[in-house]
Amino acid sequence: MTKEQAMNLTFTYPHVADEAPEQVEAAEKFCEGYKEFLNAGKTERECVNEAVKMLNAAGYVPYDETKLYQPGEKIYFINRGKSILASTIGSKGLEKGIHMNAAHIDSPRLDLKPNPLYEDRDISLFKTHYYGGIRKYQWGALPLSIHGIVVKKDGEIVEISIGEKPEDPVFCVTDLLPHLSADQDLRTLKDGLKGEELNIVAGSLPFADSKDMKERVKIKTLVLLNELYGITEKDFVCAELEVVPAHKARDVGFDKSMIGAYGQDDRVCAYTALMAEIQVKKPKYTTLCILTDKEEIGSAGNTGLTCDYLLHFVQYLSEMQGVNYKTVLRNSKCLSSDVNAAFDPTFPQVMESKNSCYINKGCVITKYTGSRGKSAASDASAEIMGFFTRLLDEHKVFWQTGEFGAVDVGGGGTVARFVAALNVDVLDVGVPILSMHSPFELASKLDIYNAYAAFCAFTNDER
Ligand code: MN
Ligand code: MN
Repeated sequence: MTKEQAMNLTFTYPHVADEAPEQVEAAEKFCEGYKEFLNAGKTERECVNEAVKMLNAAGYVPYDETKLYQPGEKIYFINRGKSILASTIGSKGLEKGIHMNAAHIDSPRLDLKPNPLYEDRDISLFKTHYYGGIRKYQWGALPLSIHGIVVKKDGEIVEISIGEKPEDPVFCVTDLLPHLSADQDLRTLKDGLKGEELNIVAGSLPFADSKDMKERVKIKTLVLLNELYGITEKDFVCAELEVVPAHKARDVGFDKSMIGAYGQDDRVCAYTALMAEIQVKKPKYTTLCILTDKEEIGSAGNTGLTCDYLLHFVQYLSEMQGVNYKTVLRNSKCLSSDVNAAFDPTFPQVMESKNSCYINKGCVITKYTGSRGKSAASDASAEIMGFFTRLLDEHKVFWQTGEFGAVDVGGGGTVARFVAALNVDVLDVGVPILSMHSPFELASKLDIYNAYAAFCAFTNDER
């Protein structure tokens, strides 16, 4: 064997810009729309609304279970305003399987409690309960916005989004000054800010001309809320209000090669999966883009993937074509599209460098997630790994593999196991992220672009 032949036996993942410099500009262009999506969709409900706009513009129609859809027809189904399914009917019968792509549109945040508003020492504040895995200390002294809905006594739904427009006020969690933080500094980082310290500053002016009244600052805040939204204190009980970072998605680095933003886990996969669904014209296999809720808290509830809403949709589609849904599911494939932890040169100790994903090496295929001995992982088979890497190679998509941190350091999970439980072949694919679950997550534009290319290869699969 020659030296060259011997070298060809080895394999490393290249920097995408070295192998395909033309992708730098293409990725830059693609990510402009992505940044708009991030700025418009800061909650699962807002992401559904954005998705509906994009789907309507692309000719999708709301799913009607009484109709028989023909190949090439495009439909969508909204589950309770917080998750959405979009599908293009394929030319092959459903019994050949569906090409599914599941991403989640919920992100870690602070939720207002059902009785949030109180006054303390002439400041009005909101109590919060954090949602998903946050590092609480990262949420202090940061401009925040409030998004969500309130269902009023008469049933009217009021949508709230405040803190995003330049003229809007923002909100914040306070933190101690270093001069007085000697005791706080001794806490472990986990408790740098404690759960019950994540209180949102909401106002500081008293209700005027009423010095005999108690809690005048709280009342002033309620008056303003009533003027703005027509709500009362009791209405908070029937509300879902989410507090998120107020900043916009920004280019990062002198070369603008990265995007820094809140909520890229997992809206980076949601956007790319949706774009790949929308661009498909007449697919061979029926495609199904799943943008789901509640992944960050275990996919629980009727808008997360432990709910049967996905199963029921597949059942409806199967009945429409007179096919047994069990056959459809057994022959289906699903990408569980979610982010993975990129190797961070500042924190190499939590990674195993030979099996980590790196920014700018393409989308990341994660064979298994889980923790401590692959616990709770959907460990993808060699066959589905082979199916998908062959597909990506044929379409010249840059991909790499990555484990979720070094063995026994921690771990994570995705929706993969819930889809696999339906007897579907599932594979985790996504984008490497730095500072995952922080208010400002970082992703590489080249990786985002290659995730999109990977998803297109899947929806356009002609094999
Ligand atoms: Mn995720
Ligand atoms: Mn996550």
